[in-house]
Amino acid sequence: MRRFSAFAIAREAVRHHSGWEKHWRSPEPKKRYDAIIIGAGGHGLATAYYLGKNHGITNLAVIEKGWLGGGNTGRNTTIIRSNYLQDASAAIYEKARSLYETMSQDLNYNVMFSPRGVMMLAQTQAELRGYQRTEAANRLQGVPTRMIPPEEVKKLVPIIRLDGPRYPVLGALWQERAGTARHDAVAWGYARACSDMGHDILQQTEVTGIRREGGKVVGVDTSRGAIDCARLGIVVAGHSGALADMAGFRLPIESVALQALVSEPIKPIMDVVVMANTVHGYMSQSDKGEMVIGGGADGYNNYTQRGSFHHIEETVRALIETFPMLSRLKMLRQWGGIVDMTGDRSPIISKTPVDGVFINCGWGTGGFKAIPGSGWAMAELMAEGASPLAAEFGLERFREGRFIDESVAAGVAH
Ligand SMILES: Cc1cc2nc3c(=O)[nH]c(=O)nc-3n(C[C@H](O)[C@H](O)[C@H](O)COP(=O)(O)OP(=O)(O)OC[C@H]3O[C@@H](n4cnc5c(N)ncnc54)[C@H](O)[C@@H]3O)c2cc1C
Repeated sequence: MRRFSAFAIAREAVRHHSGWEKHWRSPEPKKRYDAIIIGAGGHGLATAYYLGKNHGITNLAVIEKGWLGGGNTGRNTTIIRSNYLQDASAAIYEKARSLYETMSQDLNYNVMFSPRGVMMLAQTQAELRGYQRTEAANRLQGVPTRMIPPEEVKKLVPIIRLDGPRYPVLGALWQERAGTARHDAVAWGYARACSDMGHDILQQTEVTGIRREGGKVVGVDTSRGAIDCARLGIVVAGHSGALADMAGFRLPIESVALQALVSEPIKPIMDVVVMANTVHGYMSQSDKGEMVIGGGADGYNNYTQRGSFHHIEETVRALIETFPMLSRLKMLRQWGGIVDMTGDRSPIISKTPVDGVFINCGWGTGGFKAIPGSGWAMAELMAEGASPLAAEFGLERFREGRFIDESVAAGVAH
């Protein structure tokens, strides 16, 4: 694959852009691969990429029932941060955040990582104490975050109202090197690099069954025929329960739709990400000028990949009490994605009861930020049989009661 460079842009400018190559191949499936990853979202593609890059496994297919990046990876509000409470979480999210810093160079693809800073508003005494505790934990973990007073919040976000009608802003947990990245570009960048190293990305191919012999995986049935493999990674977010069912085991996962919306584009008004978790609304401004707004999750389990009216009302109400100037903005679009929630709000990166089958799921409402770290750990687990980053996130923790409680960091926030 030809590399993107200033020289390539100049060359194509004089050739009327006739020389750009397709980003990835669309091959026919082979009969057998050393490894198969189900799900071409960010986590699946990152797993495939690091299996090739870090472990030399390139006879590999990523199987996707729709189009790559069309699941939650292309539907999220792109917030990247690593200010979690527990050590295991901080380790994997900070690994991911640091890989985002150099992802564009690593993939030779501009993922538009923008470390503009993320603030989480404390609007009740309980929330304030929760974030103070997280700040102290982050200090021990080596993750730079700090509590800032209301005056500093106002300085960073002049459009904010500090004395809201219900909840005043008492301070905020501020992570300066957190931010956003372009979600599609993350999927496209990984896909292009995967295709370049020889992986087959099979889009419009649905996995309909997982074949086992003597407790070991031997392949998958797909809408394009049976494919054999020695190792299988299930990385399908909201559909994890359905795939686990095909492999014959159950997961402690609930699938719900999480929603977001976006406004018409306006001139720059806010250059950081603000999360107001008590009233529940969070917002950043995209490079196009749209306000990207995160809403809530449905209160019942479902697989509905679309928005609904009551979320617009609740989310917009929360945002207007925090940013009154938004009341005259027009909303453009609303959508939903199916997120996979665990009871302790932490992910699962684990071996499974089926030999050769590995699972990566449970990122819930906040897995975009984790993509590179998760792919790194899952690849190591699949290739080596263990990964220090994934060690705490095994399935057995639910049986043993070793929960990794991230309800403050991840319960409603992203
Ligand atoms: C509205 C919304 C806002 C969010 N905001 C944030 C945020 O700001 N920050 C953050 O960190 N996270 C956020 N998230 C969460 C984040 O998007 C997800 O955790 C993350 O994208 C999950 O990535 P994934 O690769 O695991 O899943 P996906 O991107 O969903 O990929 C899974 C893929 O598996 C495929 N698949 C499923 N079943 C099959 C099958 N049988 N055969 C083949 N393929 C199959 C699907 O088609 C899909 O493409 C948000 C999510 C939503 C919905």
